[in-house]
Amino acid sequence: MTPSLSQELFDRARRVIPSGVNSPVRAFGSVGGTPPFLASAKGALLTDADGREYVDLVGSWGPMVLGHAHEPVVAAVQDAATRGLSFGAPQAGEVTLAEEVARRIGPIQQLRLVNSGTEATMSALRVARAATGRDVVVKFAGCYHGHVDALLAEAGSGVATFAMPGSAGVTEGTARDTVVLPYGDRAALTELFAQRGDEIAAVITEAAPANMGVVPPPEVDGVGFNRFLADTAHAAGALLISDEVLTGFRASAQGHYGIDGEGWAPDLMTFGKVIGGGLPVGAFGGREDLMGLLAPAGPVYQAGTLSGNPLATAAGLATLAGLDDAAYRTLDTASSTLQQLVADALTAAGVPHVIQRAGTLFSVFFREEPVRTYAEAKAQDTAAFTRFFHALLEAGVYLPPSAFEAWFVSTAHTPEIIDRIAAALPAAAKAAA
Ligand code: PLP
Repeated sequence: MTPSLSQELFDRARRVIPSGVNSPVRAFGSVGGTPPFLASAKGALLTDADGREYVDLVGSWGPMVLGHAHEPVVAAVQDAATRGLSFGAPQAGEVTLAEEVARRIGPIQQLRLVNSGTEATMSALRVARAATGRDVVVKFAGCYHGHVDALLAEAGSGVATFAMPGSAGVTEGTARDTVVLPYGDRAALTELFAQRGDEIAAVITEAAPANMGVVPPPEVDGVGFNRFLADTAHAAGALLISDEVLTGFRASAQGHYGIDGEGWAPDLMTFGKVIGGGLPVGAFGGREDLMGLLAPAGPVYQAGTLSGNPLATAAGLATLAGLDDAAYRTLDTASSTLQQLVADALTAAGVPHVIQRAGTLFSVFFREEPVRTYAEAKAQDTAAFTRFFHALLEAGVYLPPSAFEAWFVSTAHTPEIIDRIAAALPAAAKAAA
């Protein structure tokens, strides 16, 4: 058999790049097989090096909310490129992007642009520690906040995919300053604050966890989990960091969990993915008094050679410009339709499943009961997911290669595109059974 170009590339890649990839989940380690090496993408479609076409449900893990190579975004980047690729000096695009994020997200009074979500959470945590003079950070099992040393313990995303407890290379001292609690467990948080409240700098959470699959924040007696976190942290002089790198502009706390009008807000927030429109961007921001701690005016150092890059800010601005009410209606319809089609196919094939959703994000767990915690997310039939995944890939539908990831639709997921997925679902569901 002639080796495929993807196989040849993967063989070459593994010689020079660890496991052949620059981010672990891309290696298909948990589902097996050779990842397609992609050559191009347009709208909701991907084309691999061998010329095979796939309907994309990964969307570069979130940024491609308007679809791939969306004309206004490409035009904005091309236009910016003709005027210089990087200045390492202030430029208008970063001001406009910061203004646009602040305009859309109530709690953001000031923000700084960085180059990834990881940088955003790392820097937000540094600000929180400086502001409070405390060291301890509380995170939730199954939440992923990038590959920041302090935040890798029991993380979701690739750390969940490969069933890793954390990461080697994180010092004991760093790990000691991170307390991991089960998501949604109010009693555990209350107890921790009762015992160690004066050591805690911040609680960090995903606005809606979406890196162990999607877990909507639970409400108890009308009080949402995010608000409970804010109240508990604030009562002890600690801060709440709401990580919206994945949920931002797809299922944000702002849009779906009522920050405004309820008299509470996170102190710091982090963004990435969508606000870069496919180019490397992250952002952290929040209260002006906290952001004012940053150098050069304040004592917290944070910097970046390419931060506020003109191509990245142009892509981000063009993407946000495309995210109007009509775009959200399209995303909502695409998510709902797809969710129903998947449920119908899995039900018809007798495959236990539960689909959970936050905003336009959803994920499919291969188990019967709802998932509220990381432990429950792990208690699913990942072998059934793997069979489902490969059957869909074979039929030209590209799902995230992990049972612990959200599915990403875009405004390019038109009814015709959804029909193509629908045609592939019954056989994939049978394969999963
Ligand atoms: N925070 C959340 C919630 C994420 O989902 C991610 C990435 O998936 C990150 C942070 C890290 O972002 P990046 O991969 O851009 O470093």
